[in-house]
Formats: sequence, structure tokens, C-alpha cells
Amino acid sequence: MTKAVLITGGSRGIGRATARLLGARGWSVGVNYARNLAAAQDTAAEVERAGGHAVTIAGDVASEADVVAMFDTLKQTFGRLDALVNNAGIVAPSSQLADMDLARLKRMFDVNVLGAYLCAREAARRMSTARGGAGGVIVNVSSAASRLGSPNEYVDYAGSKGAVDTMTLGLAKELGPQGVRVNAVRPGLIDTEIHASGGKPERAAQLGASTPLGRPGTADEVAESIVWLLSDAASYVTGALLDVAGGR
Ligand code: NAP
Repeated sequence: MTKAVLITGGSRGIGRATARLLGARGWSVGVNYARNLAAAQDTAAEVERAGGHAVTIAGDVASEADVVAMFDTLKQTFGRLDALVNNAGIVAPSSQLADMDLARLKRMFDVNVLGAYLCAREAARRMSTARGGAGGVIVNVSSAASRLGSPNEYVDYAGSKGAVDTMTLGLAKELGPQGVRVNAVRPGLIDTEIHASGGKPERAAQLGASTPLGRPGTADEVAESIVWLLSDAASYVTGALLDVAGGR
């Protein structure tokens, strides 16, 4: 029986690259998406071409009912849950905090914080050996923004990722004795569509040039670190915040 993983925001960017790489390792992948069914279907096809199995699963991570249903669908489809990649996340257009309205702030924290916590909670309920589960792994996708603060761009986003880091540290200690490892990756400037969604499609290319490695990273490079943390090669790693940021 192959292992099964739920990847939130698996339809595009880092989530898609992670799905594809896990497919090549023979995993069964639940490809969650919020709106873009066509992209999720493309990802699922890539997983299957790579040698894995895939199912597309619609759902907003900020909705408790959606999150529970997402995990139920994965279990019904593949019969098991071995891992969560807590990846779905959003940015909003660059702005100073003084100019951010309540609706923006609420949505940022609903998706990036509440969504990450709800998905981690659901995974914990189902994977913890203290609750009848078989153990497992959670990888949270945070951001280098959590330690940089993102002034004049996204202090809301940066703070949301700070919460993801802190959740990672606490949950690793809580779930370590229950057979579940919990880690985070903190990508830097990665070439995906998230920058366009924040109004700056060229952001990764422009700012990436000023990093010590002199370029933006790729989604595949982040996926490699996530897949390593999911694997038994990382069997003694928990509570780690792994920077994948080109030295930024
Ligand atoms: P992306 O290309 O914009 O893809 C975002 C993904 O998240 C899509 O699959 C999208 O689904 C999904 N999504 C958005 N809101 C959702 C919601 N409410 N519920 C469920 N799924 C939702 O982003 P990315 O660059 O791959 O980012 C992935 C993660 O890496 C995020 O947490 C981001 O903060 C983090 N990160 C990215 C960078 C970077 O430079 N790219 C740097 C640091 C951290 P649809 O396709 O349906 O819209």
C-alpha cells in the first residue's frame, strides 16, 4: 500500500511541484484547490504520469467544514492518511499596515493562520497514535517573511507566517510522543504565480537577483526540501524551520 498525503493548495506553484515529486516516489496525493479545478486536474495528471495516484479535492482551508470534508475524501479515496503538506497560502497587494482594511487582514489570517491550524488539527486527530492513528508527518509551508517582517509590502502576511512557525514548534513537541513529526519550510523568493496575485508578477525575478545565490528559487527546489522532510531520511527531524531562501 502506498502512502497517502493531502497537499493543501496542491493545484499550482509549490504545492504542484511537491505533488509531482511525491508522485514520482509512488505516493497517493490529494490535490486540494480553492477555485482552479483545471489547474488541480493538470497537477493530478502530472502525479499519475510520474507514477503516483491522485485525486482532486476542492475546499477552502479557512472553512472548518471544508477541511473536515477534504480529509474525509482523502481517506475514502486512498484508505489512509500518512502526511499533510500545509501549503495553501495567499498574499495581498503591497501596502503599509496603515492602509490595510479589515477585510484584507481578516482574509489573510483566516487563510494563512486559521487554515493552517485547522488542517494541522485535523491531521493530528487522524494521525496521532494516542487517538488511534498510525503516526505520520506534517510539513508546514511558512515563509522567510516570518523573520524578515516584510515592511512596506506585507506585514500582515509576514505575521501570519510567524504564527505558522510558532505552531510548528509547539505542535512538534505536542505530537512527537504521539508518532507525528512536524516541521516547516521557509521559502524565500520563489518563482510562482503568488507574486502576480499580489500585483507584482516580476517580484521574484527582480528581488531574487539580490540574494546571495543571485536568483529566485524554483518550486521544484522547495518541493525537494518538503519531500525530504516527509521521508524516513528525516526520521529524527522534528520542530525544524528549514530556510529554502538562497541565503536571503
Ligand atoms: P500560488 O502559486 O499562488 O498557489 C497557491 C495555491 O494555494 C493554489 O493551489 C491555490 O488554489 C491555493 N489556495 C489559495 N487559497 C486557498 C484556500 N483558501 N484554500 C485552499 N487552497 C487555497 O502560491 P505558491 O507560491 O505556490 O505558495 C505556496 C505556499 O508557499 C504559500 O503558503 C506561500 O505563502 C508560501 N510561500 C511562497 C513563496 C514564493 O515566493 N512563492 C515564498 C514563501 C512562502 P487555486 O489554484 O484553486 O487558486
